Amino acid sequence: MQGVMGVYAREDVGRKSLYTLYGVQHRGQESAGVAAAGDRSLRVWNGAGLVSRVLDERFVSFSHPDDYVVVGSASGESVATDIPPRVLDIERYKIALTLDGFIPKKLEQSNEKAFLDVLETKLKGTSIIPALRETMWSLPTAYYSLLAVVLDKKEERSTLIAARDPRGVRPLHVARSKTKLFVASESAPIDVLEGMGEAFDDRRDVVPGSMIYINSEGIREEQVIEPRPAHCAFEWVYFGRPDSVMEGKSVHVARKNLGHALVKTHELVKQYGVEKGRRDDLAVIPVPDSGRSVCTGVAEGLNIQADEGIIKNAYLGRTYLIYDPAFRKTASDLKHNVIRATVAGKKVAICDDSIVRGTVSESVAKSLRKAGATEVDFLVSYAPIFYPCFSDPADKPLAAKPFKGKSIEEIGCLVAEGLPSIDHVLYNTPENVVDSIGLPLGKICTFCITGVDPFKKS
Ligand code: 5GP
Ligand code: MG
Repeated sequence: MQGVMGVYAREDVGRKSLYTLYGVQHRGQESAGVAAAGDRSLRVWNGAGLVSRVLDERFVSFSHPDDYVVVGSASGESVATDIPPRVLDIERYKIALTLDGFIPKKLEQSNEKAFLDVLETKLKGTSIIPALRETMWSLPTAYYSLLAVVLDKKEERSTLIAARDPRGVRPLHVARSKTKLFVASESAPIDVLEGMGEAFDDRRDVVPGSMIYINSEGIREEQVIEPRPAHCAFEWVYFGRPDSVMEGKSVHVARKNLGHALVKTHELVKQYGVEKGRRDDLAVIPVPDSGRSVCTGVAEGLNIQADEGIIKNAYLGRTYLIYDPAFRKTASDLKHNVIRATVAGKKVAICDDSIVRGTVSESVAKSLRKAGATEVDFLVSYAPIFYPCFSDPADKPLAAKPFKGKSIEEIGCLVAEGLPSIDHVLYNTPENVVDSIGLPLGKICTFCITGVDPFKKS
């Protein structure tokens, strides 16, 4: 996954871009990069690590005073040698491109390279916009929230282009006025810029299948392919910032709804004996930070207060992508510490977004037990995951996969059997997930929990 952004602005484009890029950092922490361009040149900076390490104020001072377009990304893939934006220098154009998505490709290739390889073939004998259109048409099984800056060496000007695949699998938000365009993976970073004084006439999500571009001739928008939305459900469950709104649906509210749904589906008010209010021997806590919003929803549903029971060491970064199971466990152990006073002598209901392999949940539950928790229920806002995302090449041992076809209650029991420190795993149903987001089922991709492939939809 990747956080992407693009800014076209005649004033202070470097600083505005850097501020926008900070706001998509949660979507990838392995590497960061930007491309900046003006009338006559296009330059790229990138490197391994966080935005603040790779770019920071240095980028603002390195970028040219007369630059007016920047695209950039914060990437989750550890592609030490191929950090986006990727450049294609071909005859009259110099193009720098980055995308959040998946382009069918050879395993070792980056998505940007795969896209640019197709674009290069389409560019023969035509100009950039028709070539991009053709590229979009010729990639029916790809998905992308894409930003490109295109320097036209002949005309001596640069264009910022944003495009989104017809399914709109990944989010993409746009803010514009007559002379400027800001595009970012999510709405939250644009809120931040507005809060700092940036003013826009119009803000919304980029329509799936459309392309928006801006240069010295103005802004244009065209619907290249009919939209067939299949927005990734997991954006609302885990990927997105809680302060973002996607397709008109608040991420935080969706997560709270998932908490309410858990309480209802598993009759937790009765199960936990809180009909008359709080119990001193029950603690409801989140796994920080991904379990916070769902935990608030669970507590609301139970009509009791949630507490803090686990504190995260935020400086360890994301441990999910570590391939080696032993090392991933060590990283998870290092990352979480328990507040004994919250959990000792109590039944603990701990809330998180999802269980993939179960490493994090077991590690956290084990620490809760060591701190004196008498019982541990693991409440999961997502449904059981049976299928790896079609864009994920890694073959992860999915904890729920062997139990496909059983009820969520049964799956919860069977998964808990494999996680010695957990008494019960309580999942949501796929229907709860869709209802909690609040978009029609036909507009959401639920492949990993239902096996319904939006690319095979007729
Ligand atoms: P696991 O069960 O594999 O040990 O860890 C799952 C946890 O990793 C989730 O609760 C979630 O917070 C975090 N996580 C980080 N990146 C991802 C991702 O791409 N997909 C999922 N499902 N979880 C992720
Ligand atoms: Mg987590």
